[in-house]
Amino acid sequence: MIIDLHAHSTRSDGKESPTEVFERAALAGVNILALTDHDTTSGWDEAAAAAKRLGLGFVPGIEVTTRAKVQRDGRSRHISVHMLAYLPDPTHQGLNSVLGDSVSTRETRAKAMVDLMAVDYDITWQLVLEQLEPGATIGRPALADALVSLGVVSHRSEAFETILSKHGGYYIPSETVDVFEAISLIREAGGVPVIAHPLGGAPDNLDRGDLPQEHFEKLIEGGLAGFEVYHREVPQVAREWLLGLASTHDLIVTGSSDYHGEHGKPNRLGENSTAPEMLERILALGSGVEAQL
Ligand code: AMP
Ligand code: FE
Ligand code: FE
Ligand code: ZN
Repeated sequence: MIIDLHAHSTRSDGKESPTEVFERAALAGVNILALTDHDTTSGWDEAAAAAKRLGLGFVPGIEVTTRAKVQRDGRSRHISVHMLAYLPDPTHQGLNSVLGDSVSTRETRAKAMVDLMAVDYDITWQLVLEQLEPGATIGRPALADALVSLGVVSHRSEAFETILSKHGGYYIPSETVDVFEAISLIREAGGVPVIAHPLGGAPDNLDRGDLPQEHFEKLIEGGLAGFEVYHREVPQVAREWLLGLASTHDLIVTGSSDYHGEHGKPNRLGENSTAPEMLERILALGSGVEAQL
């Protein structure tokens, strides 16, 4: 049984429609897939129809863009936290208003990055829009696609490693909802909040003393339900630490691909999966909308 609880479509920064994502999931041998586009539920209906036709299970989800204030070296700074929300009520007003704000600040931020890049490259906002389906949640991947179309880079990852990286000279951080508020709203909407790729991208020689124990414990007190431990970006040291924390606090542990399309990112459908008993816990806890299994 392959249960993959994190995938993106053209409703945000994936390269394939929800239908095509489910078709590819079936070919990859995935049995149950969650569609978790960034800050939108607009792909759920199409995903549900495709899953039904293909005989796959569908878990409705969102990857909510949030930020956390952390103390580091005696200074307070913001870090980006992606929060997966499974089975939230898509009509919940508070959650919808936060998602709407995030979509619009993502657009403002992307426009500001385009203005910076336009000094050195032929990129325009129009060209960026041409990379997207109308209504899609915008992010750096659309800027990367515009750079690819200009021939400045040859693929998305090259853009992320150079021009679009945090140190590339054009990066602007996203302004978005605080992680504690996001967790409360997801819970209020009957959803199950699970941190996506926690400590993702941290170096593999991460010092255990540097791990943000207090911060994570506050998130758990605030209603966090679990961690996406098995994800290609989560280093081994962090996995062991997260599994310990999950066991101490009896949290849900998931594993997923974070698929963005054949040509979106190297992540492959089903490359990580979630244990059936963990999906059972998500289903038991989530009450905003039903999964289609
Ligand atoms: P943003 O949220 O706009 O800062 O952009 C980050 C998004 O870009 C994440 O959601 C990733 O899914 C995506 N991303 C990050 N690295 C890459 C990469 N190397 N290739 C394609 N997409 C990426
Ligand atoms: Fe993404
Ligand atoms: Fe993410
Ligand atoms: Zn994702």
